[in-house]
Amino acid sequence: MHRLRPVASRSLKQTQQETVDIRGRKIVVAVSVSHRCRNISLRLDEKNGQVQLVLPRFVSKAEGLRFVREKARWVLRQIDSLPPRVPFEDGALVPLMGRDHVIRHRPDARGVVWRVADEIHVAGQAEHLPRRVGDWLRREARQEIVARADHYASRIGTRFSQVSLRDTRSRWGSCTEDGHLSFSWRLILAPEFVLDYVVAHEVAHLIELNHSLRFWKLVELICTDNGRARSWLKQNGLSLHRFG
Ligand SMILES: [Zn+2]
Repeated sequence: MHRLRPVASRSLKQTQQETVDIRGRKIVVAVSVSHRCRNISLRLDEKNGQVQLVLPRFVSKAEGLRFVREKARWVLRQIDSLPPRVPFEDGALVPLMGRDHVIRHRPDARGVVWRVADEIHVAGQAEHLPRRVGDWLRREARQEIVARADHYASRIGTRFSQVSLRDTRSRWGSCTEDGHLSFSWRLILAPEFVLDYVVAHEVAHLIELNHSLRFWKLVELICTDNGRARSWLKQNGLSLHRFG
């Protein structure tokens, strides 16, 4: 009997990517089945620009995809209303710590990735450029975040065990009971006061692992600009997922 649960929960999560042709455009639809939902649900995930179709168990995939085609106008309107994605490529603008930097492909230059004023130079073949920029941004993010975490932790007399970087869509940072801090690498694309705040927030959790008044007082102590940063994240946080 104990086999039943894992199988059921796996089928809930299993998502299949299907491509639907809508007026000559190839639209990727993530299809999943939910045991709980009674109606077909169609929505656009603003964070990754993907159409998500959730089907009740008794509805077939073919039927679900027919539903998507019937809603063609709505689907295209939703997709077209999203801010454009910014792939890492020659000429693209990337807001490093909130300041626009241009990516410059330097196929003949030596080295890997380096910064010249407001430009990010990338050597090597074009096909490696997106990965190289991504790796470099993660390294920059780690450096900036660790420096701030060190600084804030020593100010409130605490320490952390390690810092890791993720690409989580649901949260900008987290802190565990054993002092493990983790952050979204995309914070390197936010203005500096936002980066400061998220690091201060997680460092304050090293002492207060809750959102009590005491916690917020600690945050206030090391990061006075936290109100502005919080409203920036609320308004613009989603846009950081457009890059790369
Ligand atoms: Zn928190």
